[in-house]
Parts: sequence; structure tokens; C-alpha cells
Amino acid sequence: MIKVSAAIASSEYSELSSEEQVHILQVQQIILEAMALGGEAHGVISRLCQLEEQLLPNSVGTVMLLDKNRQALNVYAAPSIPADSASRLNGLRPGPHAGSCGNAVYSCQPQFVQNTFTDERWRDLRHLAHDFNLCSCWSMPVFSAQGEVVGSFALSSFEHRQPAPFHRKLLEIGAALVGIALERKQSEASLKLFEQVFKGSEEGILITDALTDILYVNQALCRLMGFAEEDVIGRQPRIFSSGRHAPGFYEDMWRQLASAGHWRGEIWNRRRNGEIFPEWLNITAVRNDDGVISHYIGIFSDLSERKHAEQRISFLSTHDALTGLPNRQQFRERFAALLRQAAATGADAALVTLDIDHFKLLNDSLGHAAGDSLLVEVAKRITACAEVDIACRQGGDEFLLGMMLEDGQALESRLQKLQELVAMPILLDGRPLSLSCSLGVARCPRDGDHVDALTPRAGKARDAAKAMGRNVWCFYEPHMDGNSLEHLSLSHELREAIGAGQLVLHYQPQVDLASGRLIGAEALVRWRHPSRGMMSPAAFIPLAEQTGAIVPLGEWVLAEACRQAAAWQAAGLPPLMVAVNLSAVQLRRGNIEDTIARALADSGLESRWLEIELTESALLHDMERMPALIARLKALGLRLSIDDFGTGYSSLAYLKQFRVDSLKIDQSFVRDMASDSDAAAIVTAIVQMGHTLNLFTIAEGVEDQAVLDSLRATGCDAVQGYHYSRPLPAGEFAVLLAAWPVRD
Ligand code: C2E
Ligand code: MG
Ligand code: MG
Repeated sequence: MIKVSAAIASSEYSELSSEEQVHILQVQQIILEAMALGGEAHGVISRLCQLEEQLLPNSVGTVMLLDKNRQALNVYAAPSIPADSASRLNGLRPGPHAGSCGNAVYSCQPQFVQNTFTDERWRDLRHLAHDFNLCSCWSMPVFSAQGEVVGSFALSSFEHRQPAPFHRKLLEIGAALVGIALERKQSEASLKLFEQVFKGSEEGILITDALTDILYVNQALCRLMGFAEEDVIGRQPRIFSSGRHAPGFYEDMWRQLASAGHWRGEIWNRRRNGEIFPEWLNITAVRNDDGVISHYIGIFSDLSERKHAEQRISFLSTHDALTGLPNRQQFRERFAALLRQAAATGADAALVTLDIDHFKLLNDSLGHAAGDSLLVEVAKRITACAEVDIACRQGGDEFLLGMMLEDGQALESRLQKLQELVAMPILLDGRPLSLSCSLGVARCPRDGDHVDALTPRAGKARDAAKAMGRNVWCFYEPHMDGNSLEHLSLSHELREAIGAGQLVLHYQPQVDLASGRLIGAEALVRWRHPSRGMMSPAAFIPLAEQTGAIVPLGEWVLAEACRQAAAWQAAGLPPLMVAVNLSAVQLRRGNIEDTIARALADSGLESRWLEIELTESALLHDMERMPALIARLKALGLRLSIDDFGTGYSSLAYLKQFRVDSLKIDQSFVRDMASDSDAAAIVTAIVQMGHTLNLFTIAEGVEDQAVLDSLRATGCDAVQGYHYSRPLPAGEFAVLLAAWPVRD
């Protein structure tokens, strides 16, 4: 606008006729009106060219603009020249011989060339002058608002002519209007850009006038605050105030805004739904040309996420990342509080360790991701269980639980409920899977009055529960403690028992599944205790292992089993494989090779009738020594069987290395296989893997026909269990052996 008035002022209106003056005004009016109506730059400039062409018959109007590098001119608008012709002008480098436009831009002066065919200024473009029959050409530089030359406005004629004052005026006005249109185009582009920033910003933006009435808000602000735009325009930003800050807070803010022009800090605001949340607010005061504050711009970012992350970090430092349960430290603190509360109210308390049965197997066979989701699910159930007051994950698949035992609350029924809850089917990839768990319980004050005293005792009770076959709970008993008096006396008695003939072996038949014939017997030790009666191995083998009494005990079992097998053969009964359990401690401590060799030699039993049963953990315990030891044992000619298979590492690759002969599938899978499809799937998988590796498979713990039928379907080779016979004293077993067909 300034440019136009300057252009108009600089011309001598007196030289123009009134008609010409009207034309000049009309051109300006039309073009400025088109701009005011929002016409885009190219259309407006083309229209300008056409208007001027009408006022100078037999001519064409062109606008050329410098490129970004300000090196070359290109045609921007030339509505009356065909596009392909116009394009021949593109890339024109301003210079003293670059035609009227090239010169106008080069010299920043108007150029009026009357004869393009002869004028030196057209030397380089002469061919174009001829081709287009452009006889004369007048060009005027176009300036930006900053006074920089940006291009040219030209009127070229098909006749040789000199400009009259009216024509000069037309050119001046044309160039000025082009400058304005381009300027507007640029400011519109930057306005558009600002508008996009304003609209698209993730941060809430609010603009007020000097009186802090809200003028504009963006969508992000509306989202953040939960208000619609029309609800906030014209109102004061205090509609967002949370009421959390003391009045002094806002006074300080305004003071700083007035003095420094900006304020930034954390502020609590309120959303429309009443929710109070933290924000990071940045306010800037905008001053006008006179230095007076005209607007305030506030930029809001929601800090809820960051606060949330901070809370999460503090949560993770006190909780287990996988399950979200408190971590051990937290548990200790909470359990201590629970004990204090129990003491204050005269209640008892219990510390329970919960261990998921066969978790390792599930984890290895289903994958760690599935294992993790099982743990998460169990943690959820524990948390939801009303019987449990506090819980944490102790590590792996082991959880620690605290229970307050108020008057009359039966602990056992609470444990039962907990086990039932864990045992409810879990959907894993759409398939139901049932877990079981073993619980060890230590009670306060009976077993200790502090978490450090109770935890190891609950752990021992849990180990006992596992030894009892899992899926049970066990209360801590002093004999579980290595140092207890009872423990000491029992271990003393056990050493005596061996010499005193109190140990006996019972034999349990092993049956070929296909033919129903007898294939062997497992020798299982019992202790005929003088005062306690017949004791099961579960009650004294762990003790014997702890004290080392397992070495002489194991020697006796081997010698006795071999003697008995040889005696049956000598009595004319069919020869039968006898299986003897070996403990890991025997492999480590005793000279097991000599023991076995001696047992065979003393009894005269051929080694091929002896099988030893080892657990995987016994084999894998000492990977340095074990392969060589097992190789020497196998060299004696006996068979090697892996007991309780499925409960340990189930690593067939290792087993192959040990040249194992058979796998005894643990009874916990076998027992459930008729009712639980997962157990059945595990047994099937073990049998299949076993067969692939040429291993004999035998299922233990077969108690009924249903399980037997399921086993048949898997292709398992042999079975052992109460369904056929309980372990029997030697005399009874001999009767059975005499009557039962034996496999050749
Ligand atoms: P194991 O070697 O896995 O023996 C199988 C156990 O399952 C035996 O328990 C047997 O009586 C029991 N069983 C057999 N069929 C069934 C059935 O159908 N249902 C149920 N519920 N149980 C059945 P037992 O005799 O109490 O022996 C327990 C464990 O003690 C044995 O497990 C073995 O690990 C250990 N053991 C037994 N004798 C010896 C021994 O001489 N030396 C060593 N080191 N350990 C022994
Ligand atoms: Mg066994
Ligand atoms: Mg077993």
C-alpha cells in the first residue's frame, strides 16, 4: 500500500488526461479489491497483466521473478503468451544484454526499449524478439517490501513505440501492484504456517488481550482442559484455576510478567470434569510498537504423563516389574507391620511360601513369554485372594505371602482356598491350562516372630511339600531344621537302623503296557522304626542326604536289592530287572562305582538285571565329573533310568550324552492325565521325544484304568503304580512273581 501511494505520488498526474487518470484508478481499484477479497497472487497478477494489455492495445504483459538463488529470471505470469513460448524466456540471467527485463533487474531501473531488433540491451535475446515479433519492450523492476529487487513487470508490443506518461504510469502501477501481491502471498504463507503451528500444536495455546480476556485457543488446549472453544473465548483464564495455589502464587506470576515479559513454571489446573492435573505453563507478554502490552500468549503442556512416569519409577523401585507385586523389601516392611498388628490384637500370623509346581518345565516347553504371563496371572489371583493379606514375588516362580490369623480362622481352609484359586484353569493362547502349587507355612509366634526367622522355615516346609508329591501344603516342623534336637536324634537312629536290620525293601512291579507282562521291580526302602512304626522314605531320605547317612544306607539298599534279585533267580523264579534309586549325594560322596561292583559281585547278580534310577538334577549337578562317572557305571553293564522325569530340566540333549536307557515319567503328570489335557499333552510329548531318541518310557503312579487307557494312547512302553500293585515286601512280591507272566 505504501508502495502504491509512493508510486502515485511520484508521477505527475497533471500530464495525464482525466480519462487516463480514471483508467489508472480503475486498474488499482480492481486489483486491490481482488487482493482484499483474498484472491491468490498468481490470479491477481495475471488479471493485472490483462487489464494493462487492454489499456495498451497490441501488447502483452509479463511478470518475471528471480529464482531463490537470485540468479535467473523465470516467467511468473504472462496470460497472453502461450505457455511453451513463455517458457523459452525462463532462466534468463539479468545483465546488460538480457533484454528489457534482464536489464531492469540488473540495473534496478525502468527500461524502455523502442526497437528490440537493434537495441544493444536486447543483444542476447534478439532471436526471441524475431521469433515472437516483439518490436518494443518496456520493463519496470519489482521491489519487495524490504526494497530488494525481486523481478520485473513488462509490457511488450508488436510495434515499435515509446512510452507516453500514461504508459510509464501503467508500468509503475503495475510493478507496485505486483510487489504488493507478492508480499501478501508471502505473509499469507507465513500466517498459514503460524496457523498450522497453532492448530497442530500438541501443546495447548491460549492468547488473551491485555485485559486477559481469552481471544484464541487451539484444539490442543480445548482437549487438555475439556472445554469447547466457544466456552472459553471471551472469558478469563482463571476458569482453569485449581484452587491449589495460594493467591501469592498468581501475584508473583503477574509481577514477573510485567517486569520480565514472561513467566514459566509448574501449575495445577482443573479440567472441566473437575480433575486437577499438573501442567507446565509458559506465558509471554506481547508488546505493541509503543511498548505497551497488547496480548498474552500462554503455552500449556500436560505434565500428567511425566508425573505418571515419575510415579512409575518410584513404583518400580518398590515393586516387582513383572507382576506389580511389592518387592521383597516392601514385603518385609509390610509383614513387620502385620506382625506388630497381630501382636497388638493377640492374633497369630503365618508366612507362606508358594511355589508353582513344575514351573520350570512349563516355562521351558511353552516359552518364556507364556511363563511370564502365567506368573502375572498367578500374582493377580494371589492379590485377589481374600485369604492373603500381603504378597510379594520372592523370585522365579516363588511367592511369599503374609496372613493374619484372627481368632477362629482356620488356616487350613484358607490355604485350601488359595490352592483352589491358583488351580483354576488359565487360558493360554485360548487353551485352558491348570497349575498347582506347593505351600510351605511357618507360623508366628510358634515358629518365629520375625520375617527373617520365618522365611527359611516356610521354605523348608515348602520343600517338604514338594517332596510329598507337590500340590499340598506343609507346616514347618522342627525336624525340618538341620539342627533341631529331633533331627539330631533321628539321624543318630538312622545310622543305628542300618546295622540293626530296621531297613527293609519293598518291591513294586513294572508292567509292559502292551502285553501286561512283568518286566521289572523297583526296590523302595522303608524304615521299620522301633517306636514310630513303618516310615516312608520321604520322611527319612532327605534327612539321610543331609547327614550323609545316605551313603551307608544306599550301600545297604544296593547290596540287598541285588541279593534279593539273585535269590529269586536261584529259587527258580524268572529273572527280573530290579531298579534301585540312587541319591545325588551318593554320586558325590560315596565311591558308588565300587559299591555297585561289590553288590553285584557279592550277590552274583548279572549286571544286566540291575537298573539304577537317578534324577536329572543328580546327573546335571556336577557336569565336570558326572559324564565320566556315568560312563564307568554304564561300562559295568547296568541300565540307567531317569526318575521323576519332567520335574527337572527335561533336557534330552544332556540325557543322550549320558546314554540313558529309560525315562520314568513323573507321577504328577501321570496322575492327572485322564482329567487334564495339559498333563496328557506333556506325557505324550515326553513319550514321543523318548522314542525319537530310542529311550524306553515308563509311567509311574498309575492308579486307575482311565489313566492306563490314556497312557496306551500315548504309546508309552511300561507302567508302574497302585493300579497293578503297591510296593510289596519281598515275600509277597515272590508270590506275585511266581504267578505273573514275565516278559522274555
Ligand atoms: P520314586 O523313586 O519316584 O518312587 C516312586 C514312589 O511312588 C514310591 O514312593 C512309590 O510307593 C510311589 N508310588 C508308586 N505307585 C504309586 C501310585 O500308583 N500312586 C501313588 N500315589 N504313589 C505311587 P515311596 O516308596 O514312598 O518312595 C518315595 C521316594 O523315596 C522314591 O520316589 C525315591 O525317590 C525315594 N526312595 C525310595 N527308596 C529309595 C532308596 O532306596 N534310595 C534312595 N536314594 N531313594 C529312595
Ligand atoms: Mg524311583
Ligand atoms: Mg519317581
